[in-house]
Amino acid sequence: AAMGKETIRVFARVKPLGRRQQAGSYAVDNEEPLPSLEITVPHDLADGFINNKRESYKFKFQKIFDQEAKQDVIFDSIAKPVAECVLAGYNGTIFAYGQTGSGKTFTITGGAERYSDRGIIPRTLSYIFNQLQKDSSKVYTTHVSYLEIYNECGYDLLDPRHEASRMEDLPKVTIMEDSDQNIHLKNLSLQQATNEEEALNLLFLGDTNRMIAETPMNQASSRSHCIFTIHISSKEPGSATIRRSKLHLVDLAGSERVAKTGIGGHLLTEAKYINLSLHYLEQVIIALAEKNRSHIPYRNSMMTSVLRDSLGGNCMTTMISTLAMDKRNIDESISTCRFAQRVALIKNEAVLNEEIDPRLMIVQLKKEIQDLKDELALVTGKQRTSELSQEELLQLDELIEAFLKDNDADSSLDIGADMRKIKYCFVHMKQIINHPMASGKKLLSQDISEEKNSNEEVEKLKGLLQQRDNEINILVTMLKKEKKKAQDALSQLNATSAGSTVLEQSPYMSLEESQSPSRCFSLKDAKDFSSSVPRLPLLSRATGEKMSLGCQEAFEVFKRDHADSITIEDNKQLLKQRFDEAKYLGEKLNEVRNKINHLKGKIIQRQIQRAALAVSNPSEELTFDPVEENLRMQVEEEKKSYKAVYGRFKGLKVEIEHLQLLMEKVKLKLQKDFEVWWSEEAKKFQQEKPEMVTSPNTATVYPQFIRSSQHLSRNSSSDTSRGSLYEDPAVKNNSITFGNPTLETRTPPSSSTSIPLTGDSQADADILAFIKARQNILQKKG
Ligand code: ADP
Ligand code: MG
Repeated sequence: AAMGKETIRVFARVKPLGRRQQAGSYAVDNEEPLPSLEITVPHDLADGFINNKRESYKFKFQKIFDQEAKQDVIFDSIAKPVAECVLAGYNGTIFAYGQTGSGKTFTITGGAERYSDRGIIPRTLSYIFNQLQKDSSKVYTTHVSYLEIYNECGYDLLDPRHEASRMEDLPKVTIMEDSDQNIHLKNLSLQQATNEEEALNLLFLGDTNRMIAETPMNQASSRSHCIFTIHISSKEPGSATIRRSKLHLVDLAGSERVAKTGIGGHLLTEAKYINLSLHYLEQVIIALAEKNRSHIPYRNSMMTSVLRDSLGGNCMTTMISTLAMDKRNIDESISTCRFAQRVALIKNEAVLNEEIDPRLMIVQLKKEIQDLKDELALVTGKQRTSELSQEELLQLDELIEAFLKDNDADSSLDIGADMRKIKYCFVHMKQIINHPMASGKKLLSQDISEEKNSNEEVEKLKGLLQQRDNEINILVTMLKKEKKKAQDALSQLNATSAGSTVLEQSPYMSLEESQSPSRCFSLKDAKDFSSSVPRLPLLSRATGEKMSLGCQEAFEVFKRDHADSITIEDNKQLLKQRFDEAKYLGEKLNEVRNKINHLKGKIIQRQIQRAALAVSNPSEELTFDPVEENLRMQVEEEKKSYKAVYGRFKGLKVEIEHLQLLMEKVKLKLQKDFEVWWSEEAKKFQQEKPEMVTSPNTATVYPQFIRSSQHLSRNSSSDTSRGSLYEDPAVKNNSITFGNPTLETRTPPSSSTSIPLTGDSQADADILAFIKARQNILQKKG
């Protein structure tokens, strides 16, 4: 699945001229078969430094974007095709190369102020997440990482320890090479981002960390390389193949060179890079562009090691040459274009990065086995299970019998090409030889299974009978208790002689429930509850059906009287409070974020002012600027508060998850208590009536129930974390949905609204049904 060899695509982008800048002379021609950029060397410059006859240079590019090109156009023509490749499973790299101030950061990340100035990274994130959302045919996972390389040291801009420590004190990102010569970066964190907001939040944090680390003395932004990487893995449901791809978005260090004055001649080519690693990058590119070079010096610098795959390897690579075309920067622009021409010669071959997931392979093989079995069944006309059916066994027995009786020497036993049948015949023959007495008329297999069947049937009916007896007994006792409660309540009511006081005595009763007293015993509620919890295994196990009606009714009453219902209600309230709080914090995060962005803008303004000052007054360069320092301190402060609020937000998330789990637990405990209570009640009746059959079910309820409850809680916790708990708190503050508590809690109705004692209440009807069922069973048995 290779894309075929392709050269690195090289584009040029010309930065708009500054207000006081003097325009250099250049011409853009995007019409030719290959677009070209022609730069004319200013005469004064040519006379002074360059001793040659040529005064204009022509460079070929994939396309040239002149000063007025906007960010959306840049994204559409440069980044989008690469993003599409990455979505298809290929690796991609886009790097910006050019002198400091030529617009690398503006192109890759974007301007800080206007939304329309968003650069390639945010637009790519937006595009990728949009595409992923649209494609439901695959399951996608996305991560991002953000690496800064400064002075040959790697720093993780997304390391969460940034808040506590200075960049220099964090563990350095180092390069590891495995036996297959693949590069791995140690100490570089991969942060999962499930949506655009999360990814943007990470980009924002990384950029802030990068800015904070920079001081006027270490101009990190011009001397460091930054690599923002989007990692995507995808898989079709049911397929064992995982595709992984990476998109590196690279903001290189400034490409400016130190001019060696006084030597004369070809000064532009001899000038040395300020940044040594760019020198190594150039060496790698020269080596790659040369034919028949076997050794490429990737290992000379960290940056070339990291980008090894993107240069001359398995990657779709694109370079953007950023150019500042004012007169003073023409020489640097020519250097940039020369570099670009060499890069354009490099051929890369992107291949799909696929690997096999062994677990899924097993699933696939199992399916294949089933398919083959089905096919076999189709051909033989018989469904093949691992065991022969009763019918088939009988048939075989008859065949064997006929075969043995047949005195014809030529007679054969024809049972077809079925290993199971052949095996059975041999076993059977062996039996006849070893026990000639037992092999009378009836064959062993029949005897055993028939006897077993009837025994099983009796046992099953006995168990069922036992259960029904227990249920009836428990329900009758409950009815008695309810009757007593109702009588108590009635007498209390008479004592106070006011209808409204009933409501006061029962704070948990809702109006609706007080109006329809029979509701508390309706079957519908019991079903609602039991659908949100695992089924009671107590009775369902023996009968293989849903919890019996009687059991459900008893559970309803038990639930109503249970003290934990109050806890559930309290937690529900608390949960709502926490949701509100989380929403508020989300809004707050947005505010602080805006503040930081504003301060960042101010710092940049200040830097521009000072840079302008330095030009007019060179001696003042690199002095300490208290205003900027102050602004930086403010950003530092805001960042702290952002961290603090975000920390609280995260804390809340944990709390909410915790609360949800807690409620789940209470719910399960209630059910477990009911189980215990029910089985104890059942035992009581058994002791009272020792002639009854003992059911094995009551004793073994416990372990199975516990297993099923664990299963549930695991499910529910993954449910809650799948919600928007990890979504960007700042942006999504209006839609914080943590996944609502699943527990259906009804406010427990007052005990005074108990079931009617006579007449045809549901409970009474159920008891009658049970008694009838019991009679049926007895009849069947008899
Ligand atoms: P670099 O990262 O190459 O050092 P920057 O991206 O920081 O350069 O650009 C320097 C300045 O020029 C910034 O203030 C930036 O906003 C501005 N700039 C660069 N390119 C453009 C552009 N195409 N349109 C408008 N402003 C730009
Ligand atoms: Mg920059």
